[in-house]
Amino acid sequence: MFDTVITQGDVVTPNGVEALDIAIRDGKIAALLARGTEVEATETIDAAGKMILPGAVDIHFHCRAPAYPERGDFATETRAAAAGGVTTIFEMPISKPCCATGDVFRMRKSLAERDAYVNYGLYAAPGLLDPAEIEDMVSEGAIGFKIFMTEAPAGRDDEFEGLCLPDVPDLYQALKLVAQTGLVCAVHAENNPLLRWHTDQLKAAGRNDVASHNESRPPHVEALAIATLLTLNETIGANLHIAHLSAAEPLAVFRRFKRTGSTASAETCPHYLFFTEADLERVGPYAKINPPLRQASDQVALWEGLADGSLMAITTDHSPFTVEEKERARTDIWRTPPGAPGVEELVLGVMDAALKGRLSVPQAVKLISTNGARRFGIYPQKGAILAGSDADLVIFDPAATTTIHEDMLFSQAKACDKLYQGMTFQGKIAQTILNGKPIFKDGALIGAAGDGQFVRPDPARVSKEF
Ligand SMILES: [Zn+2]
Repeated sequence: MFDTVITQGDVVTPNGVEALDIAIRDGKIAALLARGTEVEATETIDAAGKMILPGAVDIHFHCRAPAYPERGDFATETRAAAAGGVTTIFEMPISKPCCATGDVFRMRKSLAERDAYVNYGLYAAPGLLDPAEIEDMVSEGAIGFKIFMTEAPAGRDDEFEGLCLPDVPDLYQALKLVAQTGLVCAVHAENNPLLRWHTDQLKAAGRNDVASHNESRPPHVEALAIATLLTLNETIGANLHIAHLSAAEPLAVFRRFKRTGSTASAETCPHYLFFTEADLERVGPYAKINPPLRQASDQVALWEGLADGSLMAITTDHSPFTVEEKERARTDIWRTPPGAPGVEELVLGVMDAALKGRLSVPQAVKLISTNGARRFGIYPQKGAILAGSDADLVIFDPAATTTIHEDMLFSQAKACDKLYQGMTFQGKIAQTILNGKPIFKDGALIGAAGDGQFVRPDPARVSKEF
């Protein structure tokens, strides 16, 4: 006797797309059965014509709770995740105060426990360089670490304290500390002195137009940071992960280190794959993101990086802000914080690309779910449809289409989601299932705050091969 059986679907497993029925008991996948196998279950979901995907694992996510509830919190932003088919988020440590101590970690964990609609891991910031605090956060179950190689954005020092290590000796010490934990450390890789210099030059020339943001952080800012980071790590051997790699030049440097034995991994984000600098002109400050949107030639390079496995994950870097914060930069681009929402378009965007032949469906699933779970040590609990895995699933309708408009979105920052406004994707999230229970169905949220469960990594399962 099972709780639920999902019948007639095309199930995307690590072996490919298979005609299977999925039997669920106690929140887990109890069995994968040949299609049409007679079983007893309390609920039957008919998924004829649909694909069943493992729920997406978004390893780069921001809601920042409890820092700025007007921007979003664990409830509002994980609702958006549920609607987007993302069943596990890894929340970055930027908050107020920054998540750099065991006490802050525990406070954020209990907030998420109360508010989250989807499963969640929490990053820790190691930059206070305090071994006892790092040990405390690891024993609390930190999913990994995050470091910025840049200084904190102007006026936001408290949100980033313990996170920003623009000075190489500090970075060196932090890498040694995180290496001892065996967990993954994600790094925001931009060279601080170089981007400061570019920014100062532009400001001195009186520039504050939209394009000046991109000019202040050209691709070599990212490439140089990756070279510094991976050179330092050659003798340290931490499990490094490059966040939001955005362009051809840093990708080339990353590949060079991979060829000589680097075990670092790297992600890119949908906004670099689907948009360019031209979109910054179109939607203005709403497309101000770090690193910035790039050129069409960079997009080509990133798709190649995904195809050859250099880039192993696509993550959202979902970043909610308010319309006021974005609008005040209409006449002065320096005046808005960087970031845009995007968790509601991750599965749609990547599956649209798959359905249109840009990559295969199993490859799409690896990039948005499996590989992130493997990298951070939560596979096969998450990231795959296998007997014994958690029943975090997306019932995806490849025959339908989805056109993004603000009033269908759930993020508190939906009015800032201008990049995707009006875009039509092939495919639709018909249903999101979390721990065996439907939480989103036919455009409506049916889950509850507190449905999400804390996700803890196993350092022995942290994967280096993709
Ligand atoms: Zn981020």
